[in-house]
Amino acid sequence: MRKKIIIGNWKMYKTMKEAEEFLTEFNEQTTGWSFDCDYGVAASFTNLHVLKAKKASDFIIAAQNCHDQAQGAFTGEVATNMLEELDVSYVIIGHSERREYFNETNESINRKLNWIFSSSKLLPILCCGETLAQYEKQETKKVIEEQIKAALKDLKQEDISKLVIAYEPIWAIGTGKTATDVEAQSVCSEIRNIVANLYSKDIADQVRIQYGGSVKPENIKTFLAQPDIDGALVGSASLKVADFINLLN
Ligand code: PEP
Repeated sequence: MRKKIIIGNWKMYKTMKEAEEFLTEFNEQTTGWSFDCDYGVAASFTNLHVLKAKKASDFIIAAQNCHDQAQGAFTGEVATNMLEELDVSYVIIGHSERREYFNETNESINRKLNWIFSSSKLLPILCCGETLAQYEKQETKKVIEEQIKAALKDLKQEDISKLVIAYEPIWAIGTGKTATDVEAQSVCSEIRNIVANLYSKDIADQVRIQYGGSVKPENIKTFLAQPDIDGALVGSASLKVADFINLLN
């Protein structure tokens, strides 16, 4: 049985003060509670130490990116061991905003995944998803297959089952539009088939697949009720404590 995983993606939102206020309020409102899922947020680098200091023990700290080498003259980048020092356990890789604005490619994403698994205990949340034009041309599954195959190239079989894959149709991110639960299920099931064909059904059955794209407290249930959707990657609805708690509930 795959445990659900719900991760907020705070993107470039929240100062340290705001992150601290969020966690203080979240902790106050959820004291003594336990959630039936893995959960946490992917914050900007400057907020990671605030989360480390304030979070409850089961709250996951995730980063939004990392570099594919140990160290060096890479201005503006962050290394996996730097993230691990801050108790980061997951890292988003290949978010569509990074592909679009920071020239990330299937190849650079593949380098990062290989590096993460070989250098650290971090677990990647690999994002994939099609543009609106690709969706309208019914190219979704072809695009997803290309992205997944390229991203997973040369990864060790034993690492694949630890992976989280987030299916995020780009036209649904931050737009208020969502894929239907049936569409999202169909693509997530296809992702599982792709992994099964590359590795094995047993491995594919262990991979957790999230849906992302305008997930809110009002619609999360329909997505999570689908057999191949094991969680959600949530942008704007993760920024307010009340919404985030409602998502987890
Ligand atoms: C995201 O950034 O990964 C995302 C899904 O954003 P939103 O929930 O705001 O669409």
